[in-house]
Amino acid sequence: MTGETVCSLLAEAQAALSGDEGRGEAELLLGHALGVDRAWLIAHRDDAVAPALAGQARCCVSRRAAGEPVAYIVGHRGFHALDLAVTPDVLIPRPETELLVDLALRHIPQSEKVDIADLGTGSGAIALSIATARARARVLATDASAAALDVARGNAQRLGLRNVEFAQGDWCAALATRRFNLIVSNPPYIAASDPHLRQNDLRFEPHAALASGADGLDAIRIIVRDAPTHLESGGWLLLEHGFDQGTAVRSLFEESGFVEISTARDLEGRERVSGGVKSRF
Ligand code: GLN
Repeated sequence: MTGETVCSLLAEAQAALSGDEGRGEAELLLGHALGVDRAWLIAHRDDAVAPALAGQARCCVSRRAAGEPVAYIVGHRGFHALDLAVTPDVLIPRPETELLVDLALRHIPQSEKVDIADLGTGSGAIALSIATARARARVLATDASAAALDVARGNAQRLGLRNVEFAQGDWCAALATRRFNLIVSNPPYIAASDPHLRQNDLRFEPHAALASGADGLDAIRIIVRDAPTHLESGGWLLLEHGFDQGTAVRSLFEESGFVEISTARDLEGRERVSGGVKSRF
């Protein structure tokens, strides 16, 4: 058998990973196995690849072909301005959640010592993006899962962030008696019976980070109910939710006494993040 080249391995990977994303995924997986980036792959298409490395590349491709998410195979995922380590203990950060970060940053002046809590931080995507963009902010990242907190802590350490703390616990219970100027969360919000949970990448992600009761709103109900106790007056709660949950989530904010309630749409025009202010009166 003649030796493999970058080009032959890429072609083989692309054939194994059909679909729109196959090409990009093939490059990511081969780059990961060879320890190089995409630009290197393009510039070295005719280079020979040692059999051991070719074997590793094939192993990554067959895991993907069997359904495992690319981010779990390569062990990291880009989010906002960061590259974050991810494991199957955490949800893979999604582009739509960058909207939540951008909205949160609008409420956090560069120059002020704002206290922020991120509930159910997972990989730390939201908390660490905020802490990176606002050096004076103090961020508490919480999660019910010790394994998830380990991933988030590792990410904070690699990024050299000193303005993030961690606490284990359910939603607002993790906040003890503390109060914040801003509470953010991307909680689970998929209905437990939703067939998507048994398809594609979602099958491999932590169920508790995705599904939340019969209508998907169990976690959001608890957070919206309990957040006022942990917000300063005039403080904000901002939550990501499903594209079809805007009306229900705004009602929950109203029932809990929030004012200035509004919903922002994601890049695809779908309702995605709702927020409200704890009344000053
Ligand atoms: N947006 C995710 C999805 O539909 C769900 C994330 C979540 O439940 N917070 O895959």
